[in-house]
Amino acid sequence: MTILPIRIFPDPILRQKTEEIKEINKELIDFGFNMLETMQAARGIGLAAPQVGKLVKLITIQIPENEPMIMFNPKVEKSFGKRNVEEGCLSVPGFTGIIERSVTIDASYLDQNKSKIKLTASELLSQAIEHEIDHLNGIVYLDHLKSHEDLHKSGITPNDIHWHDVGYKIFINKAKASSQDKIIDEVIDKKIELSKIKSDSSIDEASVDI
Ligand SMILES: [Zn+2]
Repeated sequence: MTILPIRIFPDPILRQKTEEIKEINKELIDFGFNMLETMQAARGIGLAAPQVGKLVKLITIQIPENEPMIMFNPKVEKSFGKRNVEEGCLSVPGFTGIIERSVTIDASYLDQNKSKIKLTASELLSQAIEHEIDHLNGIVYLDHLKSHEDLHKSGITPNDIHWHDVGYKIFINKAKASSQDKIIDEVIDKKIELSKIKSDSSIDEASVDI
């Protein structure tokens, strides 16, 4: 088996849509097992094919203390309820965010034996399935963030990030920020309503700090 290189945001492949799998052949099954190995080596609980450079509807999931799953053409059939969860992504290292996910989902997929499986998932499993299916549609969890307040940089002291007094902006310490930090900041910026910014009197202060 092979550990595959994981594409890191903002790699454009993470924004592309994927093809439905017509035939589960040996090549795709081997690829699925390579994805599993890659995910386990990276200590992730889920991985989607675009994250390792292949635009097909294939994901792998392994929730702690559960059997690993290779899921071909996974689909959310129904979703129930909403809850806030903390989420990270192997393609967005160093960050976690608070976003909204379903409480429970009914999902379906084909396994490596070409059997159609239906399952009802909740907790971490439903969150992981929703996250990985998003990847198959070119969506990353950053797209679900409602504000900068909901994004956190892990392993960084409070001095490196300051929350703005009205809570709409992350300040990333310029000297220490990586180019990836700045790109993520731009993605979140686009989500912030202009009206909020206009109504904020300390916008000048905010704009010089970034
Ligand atoms: Zn991800």
